[in-house]
Amino acid sequence: MNSLAQRFSSILPQERIQSDVLMSENTTMRVGGPADLFISPRNEDEILETLCICKAEGIPFFVLGNGSNVVFSDEGYRGVVLHIGKSFSDITFDDQTLEAKAGAMLSSLSHLAASRSLTGLEFASGIPGSVGGAVFMNAGAYGGEIAQVADTVTVLSEDGAVHELSNSDMCFGYRSSTAMKSGMTILSAVFRLQPGDKDQIVSTIEDLNARRRQKQPLNYPSSGSFFKRPVGYFAGALIEQAGLKGYSIGGAQVSALHAGFIINTGNARASDIYNLMRYVQETVLKQSGVMLEPEVRLIGSFDA
Ligand SMILES: Cc1cc2nc3c(=O)[nH]c(=O)nc-3n(C[C@H](O)[C@H](O)[C@H](O)COP(=O)(O)OP(=O)(O)OC[C@H]3O[C@@H](n4cnc5c(N)ncnc54)[C@H](O)[C@@H]3O)c2cc1C
Repeated sequence: MNSLAQRFSSILPQERIQSDVLMSENTTMRVGGPADLFISPRNEDEILETLCICKAEGIPFFVLGNGSNVVFSDEGYRGVVLHIGKSFSDITFDDQTLEAKAGAMLSSLSHLAASRSLTGLEFASGIPGSVGGAVFMNAGAYGGEIAQVADTVTVLSEDGAVHELSNSDMCFGYRSSTAMKSGMTILSAVFRLQPGDKDQIVSTIEDLNARRRQKQPLNYPSSGSFFKRPVGYFAGALIEQAGLKGYSIGGAQVSALHAGFIINTGNARASDIYNLMRYVQETVLKQSGVMLEPEVRLIGSFDA
């Protein structure tokens, strides 16, 4: 065990602390070098204590969910990646509310809600994120978004205190929340759903997922829509109008199926993804005067 790992050995069992873990194996874009330490907590205490040590000792940390909206650099991450995933993913129901720990997958929530004839989470069934990542990003699709169903969110704030925030406290906006602005860690969330017709709910989920399969390059690694929707435009349409559909740099490509997606055609490096992102931004800016802003979070050092 190296010296960084040793600092956490008094609070976590050894199997929850891994050194030099490739981020390409923990993100859906499948690029990125090693994180010095990769910690997978299984309860709130382990999250709190890990972050407490990081803050007290000035160790950089990054909270990772399912890795479906982040791209790590080829150099990886110098510090601790705190992976809130499967080991912290309990889901419980109480009448029309559902409480999920941050590591639960949105797809599981959506299907469990459907099995109980509860409507409201159909939009989320095809979003490959965790509850923590989805609340942080205010994930949304097909007219639905987390802001419409989140009732309360339990967070760990920057000062190490646990708070229960209401929907309005979360200040949800387009792909944003107060957690993003204030560096909070999401521990769990309660979702308020409505009674519905089970067959209708299941059919909506199937329909939305069929639309995804038809319109999105789901057979390639990606981070979903790479850019935010600029006000008054669609990022994919602007990229297509700039003639960039199918354009590649190294193993990174603007999807020929959906120009809003940057895909990894097999052996992309993080630098290919970054260089293609910059090229798309510059070309679209020149052609249409719109600066595309990435929705995907780029972590680590990218500029050569
Ligand atoms: C094929 C595909 C389709 C997609 N479709 C959609 C879509 O339709 N709509 C949509 O909105 N998104 C979509 N996405 C993007 C992505 O799935 C969502 O943004 C998702 O909510 C990210 O969740 P995650 O757990 O993977 O977060 P990660 O990618 O792990 O992290 C994203 C951000 O959230 C933060 N974070 C994660 N967990 C926590 C936590 N517990 N506490 C605090 N911060 C946290 C991270 O630090 C990071 O800044 C798609 C992605 C893919 C690959």
